[in-house]
Amino acid sequence: VTDPLSAALAALLSRHVDLEEGQVADYIPELAGADPSCFGISMVSVHGQIYSAGDAELPFTIQSVSKPFVYALALSDLGLPRVARHVGFEPSGEPFNAISLEPGTGRPANPLINAGAIVTTSLIAGDAFPRIRDTMSAFAGRALSLDEDVYRSEALTGDRNRALAYLTSSQGVLARPANEATDTYFRQCALRVTATDLAVMGATLANAGINPVTGHRVVDEDVARITLSVMSTCGMYDHSGEWMVRVGLPAKSGVGGGITAVLPGEFGIGVYSAPLDAQGNSVRGMAALQDASTRLGLHVFAPVGEARTAIAESTVTGSALNLGLRGEINFTAAEQITRHIHEQVATFPISLIVLDLTDVTAVRPIAAELLAATGAGLTGRGVRIEPIDPSGILGTRSDTDPPPPNP
Ligand code: GLN
Repeated sequence: VTDPLSAALAALLSRHVDLEEGQVADYIPELAGADPSCFGISMVSVHGQIYSAGDAELPFTIQSVSKPFVYALALSDLGLPRVARHVGFEPSGEPFNAISLEPGTGRPANPLINAGAIVTTSLIAGDAFPRIRDTMSAFAGRALSLDEDVYRSEALTGDRNRALAYLTSSQGVLARPANEATDTYFRQCALRVTATDLAVMGATLANAGINPVTGHRVVDEDVARITLSVMSTCGMYDHSGEWMVRVGLPAKSGVGGGITAVLPGEFGIGVYSAPLDAQGNSVRGMAALQDASTRLGLHVFAPVGEARTAIAESTVTGSALNLGLRGEINFTAAEQITRHIHEQVATFPISLIVLDLTDVTAVRPIAAELLAATGAGLTGRGVRIEPIDPSGILGTRSDTDPPPPNP
């Protein structure tokens, strides 16, 4: 018996399986042999659940989907300011293999076009390819292997990428000799993945850098956020604007036919189908993701409003207000709670507010600060706040949070 989510994904594939536009990439000769009929999708939640349909376990080479993950490794090693001296983060609006260097600095526009990706790869210190392979394996939650034939095929024919490397080298932004940088880049592109791997990799970014299947932290929260930001503006090359309007998910495509898409805080999705459009994006993969976004309501900018209320319960008994909170208390939730408290205090003769945090999963430092300030303001008006906090959530914090404010 398939679960209803996997069944929904199977139905999604069946709606696009007849789409026969596009061409399998052949400028890397070894890619031309891919079976154009294979089609798979996987969706992985930040809780580590995996749902899939079709050829979700069929291996193919990751190609450009590797770029954001290598960028994440460079950011982890060096931090954004140092990386940004070599590669920018502006969409170029140009094809993936364009000669796109910023006048003046010579930096490639962003790490997701080839010029920027090769520069990013050159920034990885030490034994670069094994480090890249290990990081991508940690993102995927299993050891990824190299497709030697695709690697050799691209290494033999990749003169345009070598030319891009020499150009960036002449501008002083490439951190290693051009032939070393391109060799590592060709290897990273030839790592074998499945649609499920791409979904887990995306889910790791969605989950603030912790792989939700293995539980291992791969990159920190800031790195995941920056990587997703660049994916949302540059991930689909010169199709990125239309993609954001129609699909609304940070994503990265590759000429192997894979696409990773991410709904931050919720899901990673991986799709695979080899035939590509003129921009080098999988035709069926894009159609399936657009369909998924519409039917499942996944657009990042879709307003959610009160459905996400942090106030589970609010009752006034005599002079006491009982407030039951739930989920993650972030800035928006704290604003809502503060506003609600002030409305209640203005309406009823309240002298005690019981704040029940039993069902709260996290309190962001800014929320703790705002709630403390609300409490301090009410004390002056003779209203006392009493938290019920059995797990001590007000005192705990995640490892990337800034220090909590003084109480
Ligand atoms: N290895 C391919 C190249 O550099 C990756 C391109 C892509 O997937 N868009 O040409």
